[in-house]
Amino acid sequence: MKYEYFDIHSHLYFPDYDKDREEEIERMKKAKIGTIVIGTNFDSSQKAIELVEKHENLFACIGQHPEDLNADSVFDERLKGLAQHKKVVAIGECGLDYFRLTENINSMKLIQKTVFEYHIDLAISKNLPLMLHIRPSKGTQDAYLDSLNILEHHAKIVGGKLRGNAHFFAGNKEILERFLAIGFTVSFTGVITFTHDYDELIKLTPLNMIMAETDAPFVAPVPHRGKRNSSLYMPEVVKRIAEVKNESLDKVKQALMANTIRQFNLVAQE
Ligand SMILES: [Zn+2]
Repeated sequence: MKYEYFDIHSHLYFPDYDKDREEEIERMKKAKIGTIVIGTNFDSSQKAIELVEKHENLFACIGQHPEDLNADSVFDERLKGLAQHKKVVAIGECGLDYFRLTENINSMKLIQKTVFEYHIDLAISKNLPLMLHIRPSKGTQDAYLDSLNILEHHAKIVGGKLRGNAHFFAGNKEILERFLAIGFTVSFTGVITFTHDYDELIKLTPLNMIMAETDAPFVAPVPHRGKRNSSLYMPEVVKRIAEVKNESLDKVKQALMANTIRQFNLVAQE
């Protein structure tokens, strides 16, 4: 399928779409928009797979979101079975989220790191990219620094076999440079349409290393703020990246599509 836009991160199985999920997907097909449906635990990963099996413009990403982990959490071995599915194009979302940690902080960080390591090993063994969710505690870059230490260690051992994308990127210039140095892309959401906080990072990210996403149903872009988000709003995100980069919309659209096809090996899916 030839896509006009491709949203690399959405959660179409969310209850927000229960009333009109099939219609929403039909609207996306008409607009030639594809998406990767991202699981956040075993159940939602399985739901993502069930959904993408029925629609050619949908692909799946399976994993355990760090926010989904508690004091008893371990890596869910059943994810290894799901990773065999031919429409699974990435492992995640996984990573480290220190933003909401309030108690047992050190042991929770250790659990998150341990589960993250399993995702890294799974991604390498399946030759799939990681979809990273990384959120530091307020006013710091702590989760980014810890994630990069782990990823750089693996990159030293397996080199280019370790691949991935930092979803909803909100690090700083140094963090960005370290991701780029290990060949990771970064993606931006519709948030960039209503704040200038990301302009500098968007400008600094080379056109062949940048991605666009909606993270639907969360964070709808201008002019849809406050509503349920949708992959149909991808044009707003892409348009904003083109504006910030001061490049033509056509050039940016083409670059983003090429990056997406390369990162998630979508050609092999045709
Ligand atoms: Zn997400």
